[in-house]
Amino acid sequence: MIDQNILTGEDYIESLRGRKLNVYLMGERVNEPVDHPVIRPSVNAMAKSYDLAVEEPDLATVISPLIGERINRFLHIATSVEEVVLQNKMQRRLGQLTGTCFQRCVGMDALNALYSVTFEIDAQHHTAYHARLKEFIRHMQYHNYIIGGAMTDVKGDRSKLPSQQADPDLYLHVSKRTAEGVYIRGAKAHQTGCINSHWLIVMPTLRLQPEEVDYAIVGALPVDAEGITYVIGRQSCDTRSLEGEIEAGNADFSGQEALIIFEDAFIPNDLIFMNGETEFSAMLVERFTAFHRRSYVCKSGVGDVLIGAAATIANYNGVERASHIRDKLVEMTYLNETIFATGIASSYQSHATPSGAYLCDELLANVCKQQVTRITFEMARLAQDLAGGLLVTLPSEADYRSAEIGPVLEKYLKGREDVSTESRMRILRLIENLTLGRNAVGYLTESLHGAGSPQAQRIQIQRQMRLEFKQQLAKKLARIQESRS
Ligand code: SF4
Repeated sequence: MIDQNILTGEDYIESLRGRKLNVYLMGERVNEPVDHPVIRPSVNAMAKSYDLAVEEPDLATVISPLIGERINRFLHIATSVEEVVLQNKMQRRLGQLTGTCFQRCVGMDALNALYSVTFEIDAQHHTAYHARLKEFIRHMQYHNYIIGGAMTDVKGDRSKLPSQQADPDLYLHVSKRTAEGVYIRGAKAHQTGCINSHWLIVMPTLRLQPEEVDYAIVGALPVDAEGITYVIGRQSCDTRSLEGEIEAGNADFSGQEALIIFEDAFIPNDLIFMNGETEFSAMLVERFTAFHRRSYVCKSGVGDVLIGAAATIANYNGVERASHIRDKLVEMTYLNETIFATGIASSYQSHATPSGAYLCDELLANVCKQQVTRITFEMARLAQDLAGGLLVTLPSEADYRSAEIGPVLEKYLKGREDVSTESRMRILRLIENLTLGRNAVGYLTESLHGAGSPQAQRIQIQRQMRLEFKQQLAKKLARIQESRS
């Protein structure tokens, strides 16, 4: 039996209608994003997180100790190793079902990081953030809302700190304080799924200096709050959604990123979870990125789709038994499982924080994300190798549908006799979508820069590589006794 607060994807899509969002796409204001043909595939991908909860409740739901009811796992605070691991298993499954970024993990990772950080801020400062956050989470769980986590500031001159920028708005900050709350200004770049969310949580993006009090703000706002504007990012081949089902490659699903601009948007006191405690900004960023970097096991789910597509085109071309083809599929599988292995190892190595919430292993999370920055590109290369040159020279769907030239294409674009030309075109377009087109945004470049660019992981790996300990191991076995003189 499904509890009332486990909604279906359709319920979710309906819940997004009629909001007064200030959204721009390609120079036009979008009145109803849900019905825009370029935006809708990203809404569908998010909706899958609701449908999975209905279809596979053991995987995608859990009983919440906060409200005593069954909720979507994306809104749950994990308090055991098994629960952190199940987040990863759910993410891989959603990657398999959508072949894209399904966008909901940022909110899950933000809530889980904030749960422990607010507890520790309160312990040091006698503030009341943790109780407020718990109340907010209860509200989210009752309504099965989606939360977009807004962390990455636009950053301006990268050589300067937030407080040193020529324009203070290049990092989100408090612009005005009143007895009721704070007003915020600034912009957050490439925010995943924000327009498809119900709520946003703003967070600082880096370690702050003691004087940068106004930048140390964490709080929640409804997506349609006054003073917020969204500008949707262009995606490679996004207008293929207007050109036909075959052309889209993956007509049903896509990711979404947008620039969010805050112009004195208001956060009331009861939705503020950090306000000036600059020394906790690094802890929050590190815990959030640890969760989100091992969340990139999502790419192993998308990788499963890519492996399936590569094997299918080999089969349609009649070469599936060739040993070098099989070897490339083995290589893709080995690479893909390496992503999953490092991510889920991080989750299996989770430990309890003082709040009771579990935190994944930070070193392994960074190793997982570093793998993702490279492996997905090699997977794409192998898939293109298996697809052959037709991947990028295939005539359009319009030509294929044309009464004049279509029958000729039907004859000359055929592979194996028992496979239709249309099936061959469809699988090639899917590989194009994943490796060059719209969902390459999520599978490739987002794998490189999402949750922090490669160097950010290398800095974290360097901090945790315990070189002295490892040197001692080596010196002991080599029987080296260094004199202190
Ligand atoms: Fe989730 Fe992956 Fe998208 Fe991040 S990139 S929101 S982990 S699906």
